[in-house]
Amino acid sequence: MAWDFETDPEFQEQLDWINDFVREEIEPLDFIITSPYDLNDPVRNDIIRPLQKQVQERELWACHLGPDLGGPGYGQVKLALMNEILGRAKCASTIFGTQAPDTGNSEILAHFGTPEQKEQFLEPLLRNEIVSCYSMTEPQGGADPKVFATTATQDGDEWVINGEKWFSSNARYSTFLIVMVITDPDNPPYQQQSMFLVPTDTPGVNIMRNVGLGYESEADDHGSHAYIRYENVRVPKENLLGPRGGGFIVAQTRLGGGRIHHAMRTSGRVQRIFDMMCERAISRTTQGELLSKKQMVQEMIADSWLEMEMFRLLVLRTAWRIDRYQDYKRVRKDISGVKAAMPGVYRNIATRALQIHGSLGVSWEMPFTKEVMESFHMGLADGPTEVHKVQVARRVLDDYVPCDDLFPSMHLPKQREAALAKYADVLERHLETL
Ligand SMILES: Cc1cc2nc3c(=O)[nH]c(=O)nc-3n(C[C@H](O)[C@H](O)[C@H](O)COP(=O)(O)OP(=O)(O)OC[C@H]3O[C@@H](n4cnc5c(N)ncnc54)[C@H](O)[C@@H]3O)c2cc1C
Repeated sequence: MAWDFETDPEFQEQLDWINDFVREEIEPLDFIITSPYDLNDPVRNDIIRPLQKQVQERELWACHLGPDLGGPGYGQVKLALMNEILGRAKCASTIFGTQAPDTGNSEILAHFGTPEQKEQFLEPLLRNEIVSCYSMTEPQGGADPKVFATTATQDGDEWVINGEKWFSSNARYSTFLIVMVITDPDNPPYQQQSMFLVPTDTPGVNIMRNVGLGYESEADDHGSHAYIRYENVRVPKENLLGPRGGGFIVAQTRLGGGRIHHAMRTSGRVQRIFDMMCERAISRTTQGELLSKKQMVQEMIADSWLEMEMFRLLVLRTAWRIDRYQDYKRVRKDISGVKAAMPGVYRNIATRALQIHGSLGVSWEMPFTKEVMESFHMGLADGPTEVHKVQVARRVLDDYVPCDDLFPSMHLPKQREAALAKYADVLERHLETL
C-alpha cells in the first residue's frame, strides 16, 4: 500500500532536533541580525558560523543537494519536512545552507557550469563563504521576459553588458550576479537570451538604489532589492553560463526548485501564524467570554486550519512527485499549482490572525503586517500568481479531448439513451413489471 502520511522514526529524531535548535538558537536571531546575507557583519558571522558547524556535524547541511555536491541527498519530501521548520525564522535557511536565491543559483551552476565556473563560483557558494544574486527582472516588466532589453555584445574575448535590472535581491551582499541578457536578438523570442556570471565588483555594475519592502524603514537603508544599471560591464567569454541563447532553459531549471522550496517554508510560516491566532482566541475575552467561543472566530480558525492543511498536503504531494519522477517538466502543473495557492493561503491566515488580535494585530508589536506583505512577496517573486494559474489551467486542459458533438459527452439524454441501449435485453424481459 503506497499511501503513507507518517515520518520514519529515524528522520523524526532529526526533525525533533531541528525543531528545538530553531526554536532555541535561531528564532531569537530575528531580533539580533539585520541580514543573514551580510557576510561583512561581524556579529552575524560570530553567531551564524558556529551554528552552521553544528548543522554540518549532524549532516543536515545543504539538504537540497545530492552527495556529489556535499549534501545528503534526502530528496524533496524530507526537505519539505525540514523546510517547514526552517520557514519559521529569518536566519534558519542560511544556517542550514538552503537559503534562496543561493539554492537556485547553485542548482544551475551545478547543472550548466564548466569545471572552472564550479570551482570559482559554486564551491564557495555551497560553503556560504560568498553570497549570490539572480538578476533577471527589468524595470519595464518582470512577468513577461520578452520585454527585457539588457544586452550583451561580443568584443573579442569579452562580452559587454548594458541595461538595467530591477529587484535583484541581495545584490548588495553578493560576490557574483547571474544576469539574463539578450545575446541573439535575431533568434526566435525564447532563444534570444543567455545567462552570464558577473562578479559584483566588476566596473560598470552600478547599484543605483537598494529598494526595501513596505514594512521596512527607508531610513535604515536595509533595502535588499537592487535597482542595477549595467554600464559597459565586461566579462570574459568563459563567463557565459549554459548554452548561448539558452537563458530560458537555464531560468526554468532554477525556478522549479526555488518555487517549491518557498512553498515548503511558507507552510511552516503559516503554521506559526496559526498558532498565534489560536493562542489569542483562547486567551482574550470580550463581552464576558473568550474569543474562541464566538462562532465567527471559530469560522476563522476552522477555515484557516483547512486551508493550511490542504496547502501542506499539496506541497508534500508535489515534493513526492519531484522525488518520484526526477523531472521538473513532468511536475510543472503541480509546482505552478503550489505557487499559485501559496500567497492566498498565507494572506488569508495572516489577515485573520491580525484581525483576531485587534489593535495589537495592526501594530508593530506583532508581526502580522509584515506577514501580510510577505504573502504578496510570495505571489510575485518567481512569477505572479496569475501566470502560474494560466500554467495550471493549460496543463490541466492538456489531459482533455474536445467533444465533437453539439451536446457534451455527459449530456444526460445522451447518457440515458446509451444506458437504455446497454441494458435493453434486461429491460425487455422485465417490461411487464416495470
Ligand atoms: C520580494 C521580491 C524579491 C524578488 N527578487 C527577485 C530577484 O532576486 N531577481 C529577479 O530577477 N527578480 C526578482 N523579483 C521580481 C519578480 O520576479 C517580479 O516582481 C515578477 O516577475 C513580476 O514582475 P513585475 O514586478 O515587473 O510585475 P509586472 O510584470 O508589471 O506584472 C504586474 C502584475 O500584472 C499581473 N500580470 C502579469 N502577467 C499576467 C498575466 N499573464 N495574466 C494576468 N495578469 C498578469 C500580475 O498581477 C502582476 O503582479 C522579486 C520580486 C519581489 C516582490
